[in-house]
Amino acid sequence: MKEIICITCPKGCHLKVDEETFAVTGNSCPRGAVYGANELRNPVRVVTSTVVVKTSPDKGRGTGEAGGGVAPRRLPVKTDRPIPKGKMFEVMDEIARLRVQPPVKVGDILIPNVAGTDGNLVATKSLP
Ligand code: SF4
Repeated sequence: MKEIICITCPKGCHLKVDEETFAVTGNSCPRGAVYGANELRNPVRVVTSTVVVKTSPDKGRGTGEAGGGVAPRRLPVKTDRPIPKGKMFEVMDEIARLRVQPPVKVGDILIPNVAGTDGNLVATKSLP
């Protein structure tokens, strides 16, 4: 029996999941049963992070890398659906390598099928 906390809502029910049958107890609603079983079968997460924004040298931020001592601007991003937990480091590697050029609109796909998953990396904020 595996014990996990349901993160589907703020209540945080303590679930017990049978590792052979995937039967769940301790859930206060049906979503907890789905979460508990999936967490053992194929755990998934939405990845949130930020990426470096390219800026022109005339704005005093260099290329957005070192930027002459000025911290680069960053754009908040996330996957548009939960991706397998086992792919999270690959996703973070792709995010670390990405440089975005404004303008960007919220919801723009920055990396389709990030790390070979069926999720896309999207902007969660617009940059003019
Ligand atoms: S089992 Fe239901 S009520 Fe409990 S934390 Fe999960 S979603 Fe929330």
